[in-house]
Amino acid sequence: MSVVRLPLLICLTLIPRPAVAAQDGPITIVAGRVLDGRGGSLKNATVVVDRGRILRIEPRPVERPTFSFPNGTLLPGLIDAHVHLGAYVNGRGRMHTDDDGDTPAQQALAGAANAHRTLLAGFTTVASIGGPEDRDLRDAIGRADLPGPRVLTSLEPITDPALTPDQLRQAVRGRVAAGANLIKVFASRSIREGGTQTLSDAQLAAVCGEARSAGVFAVAHAHSPESIRAATLAGCHQIEHGVFATTEVLGLMAERGTYFDPQCALIFRNYLDNRKWFQGLGNFTDEGFAAMERAIPLAIAVIRNAIATPGLKLVYGTDAVAGAHGRNAEDLVCRVRQAGQRPMDALVSATRITAEALGVSRETGSLAPGLAADLIVVAGNPLDDISAVNRVVFVMRAGQVYRHDPTLAGNRTLQ
Ligand SMILES: [Zn+2]
Repeated sequence: MSVVRLPLLICLTLIPRPAVAAQDGPITIVAGRVLDGRGGSLKNATVVVDRGRILRIEPRPVERPTFSFPNGTLLPGLIDAHVHLGAYVNGRGRMHTDDDGDTPAQQALAGAANAHRTLLAGFTTVASIGGPEDRDLRDAIGRADLPGPRVLTSLEPITDPALTPDQLRQAVRGRVAAGANLIKVFASRSIREGGTQTLSDAQLAAVCGEARSAGVFAVAHAHSPESIRAATLAGCHQIEHGVFATTEVLGLMAERGTYFDPQCALIFRNYLDNRKWFQGLGNFTDEGFAAMERAIPLAIAVIRNAIATPGLKLVYGTDAVAGAHGRNAEDLVCRVRQAGQRPMDALVSATRITAEALGVSRETGSLAPGLAADLIVVAGNPLDDISAVNRVVFVMRAGQVYRHDPTLAGNRTLQ
């Protein structure tokens, strides 16, 4: 095996461009602990990567590895099923809106920065659900012109209750034709407006059924038990949020195989902590903020209840907007410390289960030969202390290294 050329890595901590663009042999990464994303764990193991793919996992450290993290834990790149990469704070210190005067270039650059931040935080795949601008960002990252996670997008969500089932089906087909990877539909109002059902059962069936026949899947924003029940029975693939989910509707989702994507606290805390960016825009009223404050304990209780629901498939999605990009792992800490999820289960949720929900599990989300080399290393052991997920020291996506922070990584044995 020839020597890998990595002289620049020694002095760089954050690497904006792929640092290992061309390899003339396999890359070997040794870590004190390796989690495979499916619940398996190995100590002192080696992941071998070749041409962007995982070649094999060896249950022992190889000699003279390309990268070594004796005090680190290697796991599949994390996946966030619900982000808004186009959401950012403009130059006037306010959340960007379509009419705030920002130029298309400013908007595109902000999206690129959010994608980069998200990748550096260890998220190698995201679903960005709610903005037409995500398509160009997805494609630019896909061409490796920009550093970012693999992006799936819904383009514009479907929200209008005035549309007939036929018009809704047409709206689904239009989005798929325009390049949407999935469909996002609003089955309920926002949490800031009470979360009650908006589209009828028949309208939801039209959207989610048409998505399925068009070869994509639909995720439904739903808070109230009625809207969750309706979206589940309509065959929607995944339910977002569900702050008012009852034991009964959680059981129904489990029975129907519907994925559930609740948020723990990051979304609400970010809005409340950065109130000045949002206050006065649309439903970001005093009442809206009070509703979000009340939602925090409810959301945590729902996750607790969801974990106790046999067979319910729990996806990991943060609903990251301006201020939360790059902090996506914080909800893992909340899930474990506040909602009582086992650390291994929380990590499997944010890797394999979310990959499965997004239809990308044959490409990413676990460590197995042939899958994309999407992997990260965190300092410490997240099974003992989940906050290790906030200490990402290494990020590789499709075999390219985007982050390598040797100062936090423990001993280094780069040859
Ligand atoms: Zn959202």
